[in-house]
Amino acid sequence: MLNIVLFGPPGAGKGTQSEKLIARYHLTHLSTGDLFRKHIAEGTDLGRAAQRYMDEGNLVPDEVVIGMVKDKIVNTPDSQGFIFDGFPRTVAQAEALDAFMEENGTPITMMLALTVDEEELLKRLLKRGKISGRPDDQDPEKIRNRFAVYQRETTPVAEYYKKQGKYHEINGVGSIEDIFNQLTAVIDANK
Ligand code: AMP
Repeated sequence: MLNIVLFGPPGAGKGTQSEKLIARYHLTHLSTGDLFRKHIAEGTDLGRAAQRYMDEGNLVPDEVVIGMVKDKIVNTPDSQGFIFDGFPRTVAQAEALDAFMEENGTPITMMLALTVDEEELLKRLLKRGKISGRPDDQDPEKIRNRFAVYQRETTPVAEYYKKQGKYHEINGVGSIEDIFNQLTAVIDANK
């Protein structure tokens, strides 16, 4: 079973590359941001609990995120593997994910980290905000806060997987196809 953590700051291209990787390797997409947006659209309690954090570009509390992820994994029993997109975003989330996956006998195979500089990210997010209407992609101040949160809380997650020898870095600037080819080369060499 191939379980990939696709890592990188907001706007790095995780969603775009996830779609292509899913098609190639028959994986299940697990994007916590997408799951929250679905809950909000459906007006669930979980959506209500998450919305105020998302509106400010802050992280939803770990226990809420972890519960939602476990639920999704348990309810996808036939999966051939997962691609985790936007999760884990804190070391506590990474530890909880590891414990849960080890218990299931389906550990995380590798982390693939897309690197993109902040000015390029800001440009991409503002463009995405115009197209998608995502409120958290339209305000430069909120976007800057997401970068700061990413630096403070999420970058340590890369260290966590480096220590396990599972970390691989890919330059996230270039054509979608080029980046995809680099990702598949790393996956095929390490799966
Ligand atoms: P994304 O679509 O991944 O950019 O996530 C959008 C927003 O959802 C983030 O800014 C957070 O408020 C929230 N979110 C998504 N994933 C997580 C996570 N793993 N931990 C905490 N908050 C999250």
